[in-house]
Amino acid sequence: MSVVLDGKAIADDLTKSVASEINLIRKSNAGFSPGLAAVLVGEDPASRVYVRNKKRSAIGAGMEALDYHLPESTNQKELEDYVAKLSKDVKVDGILVQLPLPDHIDQEKIINVISPDKDVDGLHPYNVGLLVKGQPRFVPATPAGVQHILVKSGIEVSGKHVVICGRSEIVGKPLGLLLMQRNKGANATVTVCHSRTQNLYHITSQADILIAAVGQQNFIKADMVKKGAVVIDVGTNRVHDGSRKSGYRLVGDVDFENVKDVASAITPVPGGVGPMTIAMLLKNTLESAKRRINL
Ligand code: NDP
Repeated sequence: MSVVLDGKAIADDLTKSVASEINLIRKSNAGFSPGLAAVLVGEDPASRVYVRNKKRSAIGAGMEALDYHLPESTNQKELEDYVAKLSKDVKVDGILVQLPLPDHIDQEKIINVISPDKDVDGLHPYNVGLLVKGQPRFVPATPAGVQHILVKSGIEVSGKHVVICGRSEIVGKPLGLLLMQRNKGANATVTVCHSRTQNLYHITSQADILIAAVGQQNFIKADMVKKGAVVIDVGTNRVHDGSRKSGYRLVGDVDFENVKDVASAITPVPGGVGPMTIAMLLKNTLESAKRRINL
């Protein structure tokens, strides 16, 4: 039976420390209030929930949450202009463009318009480059959250074999880069798997720390996990649940009920990596605002 890692509690602690730092800075900088601008295009229900939660947490931590909900019909040029305007707005320290964007929008071009100084999601090529160079500035919130859970839970990463299932730009790839840095909470030997990986079971069962970021319910099964491994579940999949008012519940990528008997520690879904993502976004926004006032 494994230890269940309480990502919600760790995230709450981090959010509280962000809030108290904002309060402290206000004592010498009256009116200090980091501004987080969230841009949502269209009506995707999951995206609306994510943006609402991020806004609520930002306000709770003492930030200015600026919420821009644009219609699905917004075109490429309009969105680029909008993001460019926010990039120049002195009230805005962090810009979050909620992904995925509608199909008619070229996502990469929008990311390129975000000022690298306000790119609190860490997706702009400049910030990705800094991470590759080992000089991270804004690390994408979900990978940073995974690392924070490991560190706060006292799990040694240095020298361990970390296997990540998933190579997306927002989770798998930056997470691999982050955990291989010459840094505290890193120095891992990293293997990144994807849909073309052969002998996946053989690779996952060698992991000291196994991280699932695939987006498929029950993808990681007990026989893919080495006894005593740490398992981190990034997956957030909506499954139908008629007993809930919302009509759905969230499940991860890991077969939690069976894997928990093999792993030494495991994150649940919900209550694991999800809350950490929001807390890290707030931390990145605070860092950006501090840089603005030269702190
Ligand atoms: P993507 O769909 O962008 O990437 C999925 C990755 O899984 C791809 O690299 C894909 O490989 C790989 N994959 C698919 N099938 C297999 C397979 N059979 N074997 C091995 N690898 C496979 O997803 P994201 O990275 O955006 O998200 C992953 C999950 O994490 C989702 O459930 C998402 O909702 C969740 N998420 C949760 C967050 C949180 O805050 N908790 C934040 C962000 C995401 P290939 O590249 O070859 O296609």
